[in-house]
Amino acid sequence: MTTARVLIALGGNAMTSPEGRATPEDQIAAIARAAEPIADIVATGAEVVLTHGNGPQVGNLLVKNELAASVVPPVPLDWCGAQTQGTIGAMLLNAVQRSLAARAVARPVAALVTRTRVDPTDPHFDKPSKPIGRYLPEAEARVMIEHGQVWEDRGEKGWRRVVASPEPVEILDAPAVSALLGAGFVVVAAGGGGIPVVRDEDGTVRGVEAVIDKDLSAALLARAIDAGVLVIATDVAGVALNFGTDRARTLGAVSVAELREHAAQGHFASGSMGPKVDAACRFVEAGGSAAVITSLDDIAEAAAGRAGTVVTADAGATADAGALADAGTAAPADTGAADAEKER
Ligand code: ADP
Ligand code: MG
Repeated sequence: MTTARVLIALGGNAMTSPEGRATPEDQIAAIARAAEPIADIVATGAEVVLTHGNGPQVGNLLVKNELAASVVPPVPLDWCGAQTQGTIGAMLLNAVQRSLAARAVARPVAALVTRTRVDPTDPHFDKPSKPIGRYLPEAEARVMIEHGQVWEDRGEKGWRRVVASPEPVEILDAPAVSALLGAGFVVVAAGGGGIPVVRDEDGTVRGVEAVIDKDLSAALLARAIDAGVLVIATDVAGVALNFGTDRARTLGAVSVAELREHAAQGHFASGSMGPKVDAACRFVEAGGSAAVITSLDDIAEAAAGRAGTVVTADAGATADAGALADAGTAAPADTGAADAEKER
């Protein structure tokens, strides 16, 4: 029997308070909560990789950079990414280890500094569009612009820095993730989408000023390590049509083709649900068995195909073929997965 391999992408709510606060206490408390359903999945015997966002954490580092610039040289964005992989990775190790111990599950854990290669000719570098960090008054933003940064006037709130968010092309350290999984580790990898790097013509790798979407990197890593299931854990039960209206309806089982169609009709916001839907579709299109988008609390159920929006090549065939039972972590319940667009 092949062991199920699952990649779980943790969203902002796994690392900040429900109000979005990111004090160390808030982050540790949120990670401790997230570790519980993660440990439930590991306890099924699955090989688990965790990846995570880092928006608020990088935002905090940028503020420190700005305020301390006259005393300590500011560090580039790829360094910020590396730093947050270290910090969040360490906190995840502590929390997951504790939750596994509470379940008497003996599995080692490791966090990997992970680089994601991007294309230096990616058009996003010509048009930085991803807002990061805090708002500043125009005068202060102008100072940063003089230092080569791109800042945009965002109206009432002030000015905000925008950076390139290029496509992830390759998770350079994926082979190390596979090796650790093979040795039985629960692995934290590609945090914040991975440290953005480019490869020069002579083969050397260097960091670049960019941020990478963590869900798109998660999809890429999941395929690179041959995971069967990608779980995108966020703060809503699933992917909704007509989100935010009184006609909102959360999708249950859905085929890639159908989900792509809904995306084309503009149902998913570009800065939030859009990239998650894209990542889920890419994963399945590249050969993954199923991608699930759901709330953090439901990920154990979701990994077994019993919760959230479950994206497969052919939604109708899911329950019959038992794709999730093969690739996931537990036998599917006889409820629901085949009910396309089930209301939740
Ligand atoms: P994370 O921090 O977990 O990566 P985001 O905040 O980026 O998550 O995206 C999740 C959010 O996407 C939800 O809280 C919801 O407000 C928003 N959203 C936008 N469009 C949709 C949609 N069609 N269905 C569900 N949620 C949506
Ligand atoms: Mg969020």
